[in-house]
Amino acid sequence: MKIPFSPPYINQDVIQEVNSALESGWITTGPKVKLLEELVCEYTLAPNTLCVNSATSGLMLALKWYGIGSGDEVIIPAYTYAATALAVIHVGATPVMVDVEADFNISIHNMEKAITSKTKAVIPVDIAGWPCDYEAIDALVKNKKDLFKPSSENQEKLGRILVISDSAHSIGATYNNQYLGAITDITVFSFHAVKNVTTAEGGAVCINLPKPFNNQEEYNYLRCFSLNGQTKDAFTKSKAGGWRYDIIYPGLKINMPDILAAIGVAQLPEYFEKTLDKRVEIYEYYHKFFQAKAWAVLPPYKSENKTSSCHLYALRIKDISEATRDAIIEEISKNGVAVNVHFQPLPLLTLFKNMGYDINAFPMAFNNYKCEISLPIYPQLTQKELEYIVNTVTKAVESKI
Ligand SMILES: *Cc1c(COP(=O)(O)O)cnc(C)c1O
Repeated sequence: MKIPFSPPYINQDVIQEVNSALESGWITTGPKVKLLEELVCEYTLAPNTLCVNSATSGLMLALKWYGIGSGDEVIIPAYTYAATALAVIHVGATPVMVDVEADFNISIHNMEKAITSKTKAVIPVDIAGWPCDYEAIDALVKNKKDLFKPSSENQEKLGRILVISDSAHSIGATYNNQYLGAITDITVFSFHAVKNVTTAEGGAVCINLPKPFNNQEEYNYLRCFSLNGQTKDAFTKSKAGGWRYDIIYPGLKINMPDILAAIGVAQLPEYFEKTLDKRVEIYEYYHKFFQAKAWAVLPPYKSENKTSSCHLYALRIKDISEATRDAIIEEISKNGVAVNVHFQPLPLLTLFKNMGYDINAFPMAFNNYKCEISLPIYPQLTQKELEYIVNTVTKAVESKI
């Protein structure tokens, strides 16, 4: 049996929706993007949503919106995908990495210790789809108000550290019975090909700023900023008589095209109504099976106030070395099951190592990484395939530990 790690979920509805974009005479940012933005708002209850070409650019856009740049610090977990750090680097600020907890997510205690008068934002990451402790983060940034030194109009207006959640994994996850998107100041979802909902490449920026901000006004600003700071998008300009425009900000060019938005338009309702439940079922199947194994450490997926979007099944094997984990993965792969590791802590990667980040400062991130194996999880998996996966993993683990 050959089982891929994360093939995209493409059905006839997706194909039809993409065809309708192709046949409509308009293929870049236009009505399909608008519709996808409305659907994200409808399902997550985010006040406003802007779709962009990736979560990475969505994070950069949020940082730029807050006037973050050279000399500023942004706190991120050491255990995440590189994009979280790169977005900070691309706006000229310094990523301040902190260690995580056993649930893979950023440690609030370490976040607190890392806050200085230069801290302008924190980017907690919902690893594997498991929401961070947002009440604690909210309390923390409010507690640290006195330390905050505003240096832009929006910073003056908010008067505290901005909370941008890297929710690349966690669309559909809930916190206090509420979908993510309307929890933090700004939530960034990814619609990359391997994520729970995809547009092949893409991202969504949910805007949920407190008063006195007007979220619709900030959406208008960000939309313009994501299109080179141009006052009219190409769709409006293409109408007869609509030729004149102006450039009013040094914007980015990070808009999402309609062809891609069409994929998301077809996927999003089905995800919230059906395929998310299917992911939960698979999680529960894995859980039931591995619960009986003394060597298995199961990933969190529900608690009193949180539910996961079940993006990754991050299985850990108790007390094994990195070399043993690698050998187990090789054995599993030989038997046709594609697995993965999420994530290599950033300080293990050359770029960050060369910048001076040292893995020894992040013992929990390393411990989570060294024994972690992510198993396939997607709605197309059949019962037979799931059985094959758990048996293959078990055989591989038990032959190596
Ligand atoms: C996938 C991912 C991103 C980046 O998403 P893109 O849409 O590919 O830019 C950011 N953060 C995390 C944690 C991710 O897994």
